[in-house]
Amino acid sequence: MALIQYLTRIQFEPGAIGLLPDELRLLGVSRPLIVTDRGIVAAGLLADVLAKGGLADDTAVFDETPENPTESAALAAVERFHAAGCDSIVALGGGSALDLGKAVALLATHPGPLEQYAVILGGLDRISADKPPVIAIPTTAGTGSEVGRAALLTLDDGRKLGFISPHMIPNVALCDPELTLGLPAYLTAATGMDAVTHCIETFLSPRYNPVADAIALDGLGRAMRWLEVATRDGGNKEARQEMMMAALQGGLTFQKGLGAVHSLSHPLGGLKALKLHHGTLNAVLLPAVLRFNAQGEGAADKFSRLKQAMGLEEKADLPQALADLSHRLGLPARLGEMGVTADCFAEVVQGAVNDHSTASNGRPIAADDFTRILHESL
Ligand SMILES: [Zn+2]
Repeated sequence: MALIQYLTRIQFEPGAIGLLPDELRLLGVSRPLIVTDRGIVAAGLLADVLAKGGLADDTAVFDETPENPTESAALAAVERFHAAGCDSIVALGGGSALDLGKAVALLATHPGPLEQYAVILGGLDRISADKPPVIAIPTTAGTGSEVGRAALLTLDDGRKLGFISPHMIPNVALCDPELTLGLPAYLTAATGMDAVTHCIETFLSPRYNPVADAIALDGLGRAMRWLEVATRDGGNKEARQEMMMAALQGGLTFQKGLGAVHSLSHPLGGLKALKLHHGTLNAVLLPAVLRFNAQGEGAADKFSRLKQAMGLEEKADLPQALADLSHRLGLPARLGEMGVTADCFAEVVQGAVNDHSTASNGRPIAADDFTRILHESL
């Protein structure tokens, strides 16, 4: 259906996993390590990819991706990669498996410790192109990680850090909307709200990139038209395809940088005791961050362009419209409903101030603002 070359090579079509043998051949590799998780295996998607992707039954697999990817999981997978004599990575799953696969490719050739490659610790210059190739196959429509330059990992000491470089972008993204047909309603909604948040935050980022802006607005409009349909009617192929495209579009805009929603959802997602879902966190935080951003310079014009793209009236209240959407999707409205209490706020604010997304928020933001937003969202 579509071969798109923008940032990387993207094959987008129902049944795209059938192109896996060709794509491996084009990359000159033949022994991939499949990085995935137990849920994907249980759902039969791994078997599907092995069969339709023309891979042998004894293909090396690492299926222990945790809910939020960790340093220790990455190290365990790298060990599997070397032990099985692998020459490439096929990352199959939601954002966690894709990010873990990208980190495994990094650590396969870059000496540890992992920490030194974190972007806020000067890692950008330490990540070279000398890495095994990665083919990313998303099984959710939200993360955009299949075309993103970042992998988010929680280090053993609890910090959730971004590992970012153009060399981290997967060599190929195989986007096959049929892989999302069995995704439960709740995950469809939560991952879909991640895509919505990517489009909104990158559009509001002050960095000049009209091309990415256009993609963000188109992706946002697409998600607004199809997210509720895909959530209500998971078997609707058109809705699944349009949501996978919206998520891809969100990922194609990451080069502008995200904003304060992600600054906060990263450290919240790193809280070990709670295991909070990234997309759900974003859906909950989005209204309060937008109310903060609304007071920024030039926000009125940008907000009206967002509303236009979403099919809302000019007089509509954008933060409220997004809160209403989350409500219709059955997502929680408050952090408290997710088990978050205010005693973690000091730690979360510290993480948010240091997060790589903070610099590109639509409006300059400081620790006090983050604290207010957290209380408003509690
Ligand atoms: Zn996200």
